[in-house]
Amino acid sequence: MKGYAALITTLLLATTAALHAAEGGSAQSAGAISIAKFKGDRVAGVSMTLDDGLRNQDEYAVPLLNKYGIKATFYVIPGLTPETNEEAAKKKPGDHGGMSWLRLKELAAQGHEIANHTWTHIPLTKIKDGQRIDMESAKLDAQIGQAYEAIKERIGVAPFTFATPGNGISDVVRAAGHKYHPVIREHCERFGAWPPTSKDFTAKQANAMVDRYLKKGDALVWMMHAVTEGYNAFSGPDVLEDHLKYLRSKEDVLWIDTFAHVSRYTMERDAAKLTGIVSADHAEFTLACPLDAALFHDPLTVVIPANQATKVEARYKKSGEKLPCEVRADKILVQVAPSDQTVEITWHHAQK
Ligand SMILES: [Zn+2]
Repeated sequence: MKGYAALITTLLLATTAALHAAEGGSAQSAGAISIAKFKGDRVAGVSMTLDDGLRNQDEYAVPLLNKYGIKATFYVIPGLTPETNEEAAKKKPGDHGGMSWLRLKELAAQGHEIANHTWTHIPLTKIKDGQRIDMESAKLDAQIGQAYEAIKERIGVAPFTFATPGNGISDVVRAAGHKYHPVIREHCERFGAWPPTSKDFTAKQANAMVDRYLKKGDALVWMMHAVTEGYNAFSGPDVLEDHLKYLRSKEDVLWIDTFAHVSRYTMERDAAKLTGIVSADHAEFTLACPLDAALFHDPLTVVIPANQATKVEARYKKSGEKLPCEVRADKILVQVAPSDQTVEITWHHAQK
């Protein structure tokens, strides 16, 4: 009797959770299965994005990002990207296209995102005499499409995200970008002060921005240019290093990943429909998502309320294939990509 009542209650709660998840709500509704707002049930997300493919970034930012195991997004300009490292070395620290295709391919292999910043970095839209003027449509399509194809071919991964030169945006530009990319970077925070230089920008200011996003429970997107010399350079690499250290120190509550991963997660999360039931030592759910699975295939974190669970196992019910899961004090987290398959989780309770 008792079990039945609990099952019905959890059924109702699970439905509510699915509704909340669809609205992009938080995972914190106790007692119900839910989709975590960010991967690993973290409070906020952060993505480092670095524009223009500057050699300065390769010299200073890349070693630091790799030292702290942080995957970043590089907005590159294919029409200005040289073939070889020798050609790239001839560019000045702040010159566009200071990293070669060879080098970008290595960065992609390290887990960084190589993303589209147009073919030659010409403004796509501007205001003249109070009127908005968009680039003529064939040219606009070439600036975006040619760059998209080049990255897809040279890197082997189609760019998922797009950032316009100078962040210029209009309805026309947005539509042109979305023809190729699910995501356009429209809202970002400048890592540094207003240009041309940010010599007085401190890690403390950057850290305070992260704290604001943690408080809001939102995804922060940093936009960076030069590190030491060139457009919007700050006083030195130590500003970046101190900030990366800070990000790492917040790892239990902050999800640090490429803009592609974070934005893909949030889009899947908002579109997905979770239906499931929980009992004292067992849960079942399906996580369906109407988005194109060829593009949206990242695992979401499903949160199952369970106190002091031990011997946890998560698997696809039909195939028995195991799924990654982790146990927290009062919940189980399962990483699973949306599909039509039912997922089953079983656990025991730790002895009191
Ligand atoms: Zn740019």
